[in-house]
Amino acid sequence: MKPLKEYQQKRRFTKTAEPPPNTKRSPSGHLFVVQKHRASHLHYDFRLEMDGVLKSWAVPKGPSLDPSVRRLAMAVEDHPLDYAGFEGIIPEGEYGGGTVMVWDRGTYVPENDMAAGVSKGELKFTLHGTKLKGSWVLVRTRARQWLLIKHRDQYASTEDITVSAPRSVLTQRSLAEIAKDEGGNVEKAATGDPLALAPPVDPKSRAKRKSPPYPARSMT
Ligand code: MN
Repeated sequence: MKPLKEYQQKRRFTKTAEPPPNTKRSPSGHLFVVQKHRASHLHYDFRLEMDGVLKSWAVPKGPSLDPSVRRLAMAVEDHPLDYAGFEGIIPEGEYGGGTVMVWDRGTYVPENDMAAGVSKGELKFTLHGTKLKGSWVLVRTRARQWLLIKHRDQYASTEDITVSAPRSVLTQRSLAEIAKDEGGNVEKAATGDPLALAPPVDPKSRAKRKSPPYPARSMT
């Protein structure tokens, strides 16, 4: 099948601001991104660059730093590399309609051959992200069902990173703030967001934002 054909078929690019289905390579060739996505349910999309596309898995509970925790990761269609910069709104009624945040991003180092690993159902890699670091494995258990597991190393922890670091790594915004800024559904964006349980953001990191200060988060 043509690369990104499934990605293309699922979307109407006259309606969504998501990037078009072009293949390209990042400077490292090994980019990774995790996007927090409030569609019908909150989930985290875990993506690894391979051969000009982002191989993608939807992780309902998000990554865990605890090596004893196995997180379900459903393989979904490949995404274009440009998707790693997409943060904003997918219109309601469109595929994946809701709010998207770039939750973490960086590069990875393969620990085995990635193409062979996809066929075999076992991918080992070291992440160099802002939030996710160290050695991880994705292992296939059946058809499109994989498990995302942290290996034991200095970055393993029982800290719930989805709660302690809930904001955008690009803009420091919460999902609700992204929805508010971009004309999305603020209430829906906040539903199920672990940010409700998280401490307020450090004022210093808020000051680093580009545009005028975002208003205090409107969550109950
Ligand atoms: Mn998604």
